[in-house]
Amino acid sequence: MVPAVSWKLFGLAAVAVALGLEAVYLFMRRRRPPPVREVLFFPTPLICTEQVLRPGTCCSCPLPHHTDSALSQLIRRLLGARRSLELCIFTFSSSPLAQAVLLLHGRGVRVRVITDSDYMAASGSQIGALRKAGVVVRHNQSSGFMHHKFAVLDKSIVITGSMNWTMQAVQTNKENLLITDDGVCVRAYMEEFERLWVEFDPAGYCFFPEEEKKGL
Ligand SMILES: [Zn+2]
Repeated sequence: MVPAVSWKLFGLAAVAVALGLEAVYLFMRRRRPPPVREVLFFPTPLICTEQVLRPGTCCSCPLPHHTDSALSQLIRRLLGARRSLELCIFTFSSSPLAQAVLLLHGRGVRVRVITDSDYMAASGSQIGALRKAGVVVRHNQSSGFMHHKFAVLDKSIVITGSMNWTMQAVQTNKENLLITDDGVCVRAYMEEFERLWVEFDPAGYCFFPEEEKKGL
């Protein structure tokens, strides 16, 4: 027969273990950063983004300074990337957003861009400047547009919505962007990016389709 004192000790030990586990759980919960759930709406007032792109620098341009906008919030979020940026964007002509991407590339963040073949050569497109800087860009070859507009940061945050990365979209259009670290969403967007990255491998490009059809 087990003495009553042993049962008491066993009970106390069980309570101590339970309290310890609860303390660990509460500690871990406190340490976990809050989930990322943001929505940005455009158009946004035209402001100088120099301070966001290069904090501490002086700028004397005529645009408003020391004020926030949806564009500066987007740039700040992008510049938070530390390891990778996957960008899948139909039209890209915004200079401030291109500067943000180039800053990441210059820091050693692995940047991959997928875009639309028809619009990458349009007037004001930043795709050429990105390629010139060494950013790897792939594009569609099919007749349908590569119409996605999303970015994945560090494989852990997705930015998606209606907005192309153009100054017209930023300053004129009614646009929305959702920013989330929801794991299910991030995984789905990463899978789509990787699927398109393989589909648009340059090894499969056909540079002169009309001539090839004619057998020239
Ligand atoms: Zn300025």
